Amino acid sequence: MFVRPICWEKKALLFLANDFSLLYHLFFAYKFLRQNKSQLFSPFCVCVNLLYLVRRLRSLTRTVLVLSLAPASVAADSVSVVEAVKAGNLPLVQTSIKQRKDVNQPEPDGTTSLHWAVQQDRLDIVEALISGGANVNTKNRYGAADEIGCFEMREDGITGLADPSGLFLSERAAAVAGTCVTVTVEGREFKATLNAQNLVERVSYLSTNDVIGDYLIDISYSEYGDFGGIKFPRRIVQTEDGQPTLDITISNVLPNAAVAIDAPANVQQAPTPALRVAVEKLADGVWYFTTPNARNWAVDFGDHIVVVEGQGSDERSLLAIEEIKKTIPNKPIRYVINTHAHYDHAGGLRTYVAQGATVVTHEMNKPFYEKAWSRPRTIAPDSLSKAPKPAVFETVSDKKMMSGGGKTLELYYMKGTSHNMYNLFVFMPGPGLAFWGDGYNPPEGNDPRDVGRTPEQAIELYRVITMNNLDVKTIAPAHGAGPKPFDNLKKAIGLLPP
Ligand SMILES: [Zn+2]
Repeated sequence: MFVRPICWEKKALLFLANDFSLLYHLFFAYKFLRQNKSQLFSPFCVCVNLLYLVRRLRSLTRTVLVLSLAPASVAADSVSVVEAVKAGNLPLVQTSIKQRKDVNQPEPDGTTSLHWAVQQDRLDIVEALISGGANVNTKNRYGAADEIGCFEMREDGITGLADPSGLFLSERAAAVAGTCVTVTVEGREFKATLNAQNLVERVSYLSTNDVIGDYLIDISYSEYGDFGGIKFPRRIVQTEDGQPTLDITISNVLPNAAVAIDAPANVQQAPTPALRVAVEKLADGVWYFTTPNARNWAVDFGDHIVVVEGQGSDERSLLAIEEIKKTIPNKPIRYVINTHAHYDHAGGLRTYVAQGATVVTHEMNKPFYEKAWSRPRTIAPDSLSKAPKPAVFETVSDKKMMSGGGKTLELYYMKGTSHNMYNLFVFMPGPGLAFWGDGYNPPEGNDPRDVGRTPEQAIELYRVITMNNLDVKTIAPAHGAGPKPFDNLKKAIGLLPP
């Protein structure tokens, strides 16, 4: 075993060890240091303290525990060691050990009674378990690396992990295995895991998304090679929310190679355009609200408003709602129709929920939204997370009609569409307006063909229209240069000459 204190930007003190049992030493060191804050900033003192504690632990392991002679309770027979530890019941732990129950029996994630005892700050139980044969080298699912321990030293003393073993417990979702150091950049905490050679093995941090909220980005660096004196990983693998998003194998590294990656001056100087919502009347009581590459409808249903598509983001929806309320004043938005769950079509739904609207979507999308919307949103709080309320859904299986104020909207499930499994098509009889999420984006100009994609999905849209005998006159979908005549869709798929 070895112990090395390392300075980390003058503030963090990081201990490395090649032995899992250092976890317990660190735990004692942590407790000791908390009681001796005046000595905190002397690495020498820390070393001395640690060595003292290591010695103390060694002598502890040589101690033979005198087991309690108290008779075992009836309940003890049915209680495992780990259950007794979780209950914080030392006599029960001692009885269980005496009954020769397995002190090393792990939970499904590998967490043992010893992990729990340390996590609960029960030195007496730790002593009982070690004396009873607990293996201090057992790792749980966060223990893939040999090194453990993360301390952050700030001006006011050691902060960060009150329980070092918490790194090993399953409820800590973003736990990082191994020796870690946390770095805070622009208010966001990054965790880097170092191996025994002080090479970075993992970096993890939280990012955010309008639909799913906070999610973990985890990057692993492995197969380090020596490239002219520079140690660099040959393999970089990234996951986002547990899904693989990047897997790079690096064949060569050129230290300090000259590369020009400057953005052109006009790009650098281009101001970010302010989001603006354009309003266009589609028919009596129906308006089109447009931001760059995103369009939605608002329909006047007499005593309330129905919005078709809540896409984009909280910011876009807040601006759209402002325009909708100016266009159709003094009426609440009661419903927002969602065509499908792709993020660019669902990112602004929560804003409508926050304002009391019911979400109308395909029945198979509801459980997805319920799950996604229950996740934390610490990185970018939105209207709904700032004023939480349960989302209310009305679902569609094959078809749904919505009527009010002399208007009707017909919703059709686009069965078998290749774009998305649970996709709705919206039709408004009378003016003959059609809305969809994706499949055919009417281009600007005279050529109605959508060169951005092959025509299969446009053919699927046409099939929904013909199979349901819909008298479409105008297409006004979520993307593209709508509104356009229905003939443009026919031209795009070759039913009419372009
Ligand atoms: Zn889509």
